[in-house]
This record gives sequence, structure tokens and C-alpha cells, in this order.
Amino acid sequence: MPEGNEVHRFRDRQAATFIGRNVRADSPSGQFPDAALLDGRKLRGIVAHGKHLGYDFGRELILHVHLGRFGDFTEGKMPLAEPKGALRLRISTRTDWLELRGPSDCSIYDQEKWDKLMARLGPDPLEKGSDPHPAFNRIAASKAPIALLIMDQSVISGIGNIYRAELLYRARLSPFQAGSRIDLKAFQAIWKDARKLMADGMIDRRIVTTRPKDRPHPRGKAESGEVHYVYRRQGKPCLVCGTAIKSREMAGRTLYWCPSCQKDSAGK
Ligand SMILES: [Zn+2]
Repeated sequence: MPEGNEVHRFRDRQAATFIGRNVRADSPSGQFPDAALLDGRKLRGIVAHGKHLGYDFGRELILHVHLGRFGDFTEGKMPLAEPKGALRLRISTRTDWLELRGPSDCSIYDQEKWDKLMARLGPDPLEKGSDPHPAFNRIAASKAPIALLIMDQSVISGIGNIYRAELLYRARLSPFQAGSRIDLKAFQAIWKDARKLMADGMIDRRIVTTRPKDRPHPRGKAESGEVHYVYRRQGKPCLVCGTAIKSREMAGRTLYWCPSCQKDSAGK
């Protein structure tokens, strides 16, 4: 599943290619007949918020895309490729094309529906000038574990399973600590770290969350076993303290943590 930074990366690339252009749009798989409403229209803008994308075609025609767990874009230069697989949406100009397969949503929103969606979502650390306080207020008012809260898109937008695990590790916070026991200073540090880590992730296609000094090979590029502190490292020694990394299911997603570096005050 793409995390928010990958969604922002798609936005930036597609914006550079398609904004201000009249596009052809169709749905070769037939799963998105409303593609016809967009055909021939000019794309005016693209917004990324967390894991949601909104393509503004004017006249209250907003194409909403959520990639979900399996969605992906492919792009290329004209001519169009022969349609393969379940090609939900294809957009093209005279010079470029874009294909969308497997999204959890691809549908037309009007402005009201889009605004309602935005109102439901928490602030996105990757958005310039976004305010972390609404997210903190939700966290501070909740007894739920912080690991659940920071992946809840109505609290913060854009954090998925990799960043959840790695941000909590870097903050040395137990994933089981209740939101109400996180103070503003600790939360602001996580927010700042999320901004930095996720922005770096947009430049390098690989998500790297380890600091060079903590890697077995601190010089040069991170090797494959040392790009993350805890994510998918269950049973392996913590890069910092050597304790075996643990994993457990939480709300349908696997959580990873170091039981020594990330103790909560209750001693879990
Ligand atoms: Zn450790």
C-alpha cells in the first residue's frame, strides 16, 4: 500500500505532465463508465491529501482516486499501449498517457462531496503549512494506543504501516502507549520527524528510515537489511540495542517494535 509520500509523488509527476492540458479519458475495462464525463476536458489541478487524490476538471467534476492496497499508476509516452489487465482509467494527451489499475476508489465527486471528505481527514504532514494541532487534540483525548491513532486517517493523513512503525521507533515510544499519555512536545517531535522522513522518501523511491550511524555499514547507501529499524524485522536483532524485534497484529495490520527501545511506562 502506498504511503502518503508516494501519493504526493504521483501528484507532482502527474501535475507536471497533465495540468492545463485537454485530456482524452476512457475506461478500457468498463469499470468506470463516468470516464466519458472527463473525456475532452481540461485538467485544472490535482490535490493530494494523505492517500487521496482529487483531479479538478472544472464544473464540479472532481475525479477522486484512492489507491487502496492494490492500486497503481503506470505512465508513458504516446502512442497508447495495448490495454492490459483491469485497466480502470486511461488518460492521455498528444504526448503522454497515464493508466490506473486496481484502486479502491475511482469515482466522480462534486465539490460538496470533496469538501466533506477533506473535513473528515486529519492534517497531512506533507502539506505546506499544515497544522498539527487538530491531530494532537484527537490523540490527547483518546485512550487508544498511539500505534492505532497515528495510522487513523481521520487523525493524521498519509501515514501507513511502514512510517507508523518507524516513526514510533525513532521517537522511542511504545506502540501501546495510550494517546492521552503523549504530551504535545512528544507529538510535535513525531510530526516534525514525519515531515522530514516522508519528504526524503519522495526523493528516493525506497523508503529509508535508519540513520547512517545506526547501520551496520554506516558509509554509503543503506543496504537492504538496514533500511528500517523495525518494519518487517521481527525476530532480527534491533540495530541499536540487539534485542529481537517483535511483531503483532493490531486492527488487521502488523505492528513491529523493539521491546527494549520502546518501553512504555507500564513496562510493556
Ligand atoms: Zn532496540
